Amino acid sequence: MSIVIVGAGFSGAVIGRTLAEAGYTVSVLDSRDHLGGNCHTERCSETGVMVHTYGPHIFHTDNQRVWDYVTSFAEFMPYRNQVKSTVGGAVYSLPINLHTINQFFGKTFNPEEARAFVETTQADTSIADPQSFEEQALRFVGPALYEAFFKGYTEKQWGCAPSALPASILKRLPLRFNYDDNYFAHRFQGIPKAGYTDLIAKILDHPNIDVHLNTPYTAAHGARAAHVFWSGPLDGYFGEKLGRLGYRTLDFERFTSSGDWQGCAVMNYGDADVPFTRITEHKHFAPWESHESTVCYREFSRACGADDIPYYPIRLVEEKALLSQYEALAQAEEGVTFVGRLGTYRYLDMDVTIAEAMDCADEFLAVR
Ligand code: UDP
Repeated sequence: MSIVIVGAGFSGAVIGRTLAEAGYTVSVLDSRDHLGGNCHTERCSETGVMVHTYGPHIFHTDNQRVWDYVTSFAEFMPYRNQVKSTVGGAVYSLPINLHTINQFFGKTFNPEEARAFVETTQADTSIADPQSFEEQALRFVGPALYEAFFKGYTEKQWGCAPSALPASILKRLPLRFNYDDNYFAHRFQGIPKAGYTDLIAKILDHPNIDVHLNTPYTAAHGARAAHVFWSGPLDGYFGEKLGRLGYRTLDFERFTSSGDWQGCAVMNYGDADVPFTRITEHKHFAPWESHESTVCYREFSRACGADDIPYYPIRLVEEKALLSQYEALAQAEEGVTFVGRLGTYRYLDMDVTIAEAMDCADEFLAVR
């Protein structure tokens, strides 16, 4: 009997590879016609640009084991994510750093002055233990920066008030009192030279693994499997019998142009009255390549319907009870392990997904 893995994203690929190397026969199923899940990249036939089909993916990690793993399969090119934000008719640097603060408040602070300014005149230090996104923002940057950079963007991205979202979402972004505008604070950062789909194909390239695209999972697959690893939506596995967990999906309005359209890879739009959250210009994710033409995506976020691709688990505070019930069902489900961003309903980055998949496969092997 073989191992069945549902979903050909990072979780499925890493678990599949580890078990295949341990001698198991592994079948990886994916309902879509390509590998990589939402990390999928594909070269545009018209422009030659490598497109991040489901939105931008920048690999960043502090985990040496994960970095060694991914770089053993594919060449990574250095990439520094420098995001801009257009707000109220001006362009600022993100994450909020000394440049943002000086530009926004019309100052020439040095790091110490900026820190003192934000802490004494902006931040709401009466919030001792921020619970929500909004509290986290008010505590650390105060209302002016919060309203400019986070409030509108977050309402558009998540479709709800930032007071209903967990503080953990904002904790993804650093606040800096120097001019470092690297969006991430991790030691290792890069993008696979030949794209993410190529990387995942290489991870899955093993004689004990067969991959079945365009193949939705059915109970018959489960019946024939020694064990199933499920990286699809947690509630979807159970036919949403307790109700649906909330996800956000994305719509991309794709357009092409000649030359350089916006001069950077990611331009966020903080204003609430601009309907999209950001515009990504894909050739800037591959600065080592050169292209005459360019491919851009305007990114719109909305509630995920039954036939849409889920991207982000929302994890509203009031969803906790339903999530716990599904987690209990998942725990009790014999012969099935739930993995990844959708399978565990958590806002996981690629590196954490890979680390968890490695651990999950190791634990599986340890008890066999
Ligand atoms: N965010 C924001 N304004 C921005 C960028 C991010 O308010 O200009 C908030 C927003 O709620 C977003 C979260 O911070 O969902 C995490 O941002 P990140 O860039 O990590 O989002 P991702 O690239 O994963 O969509």
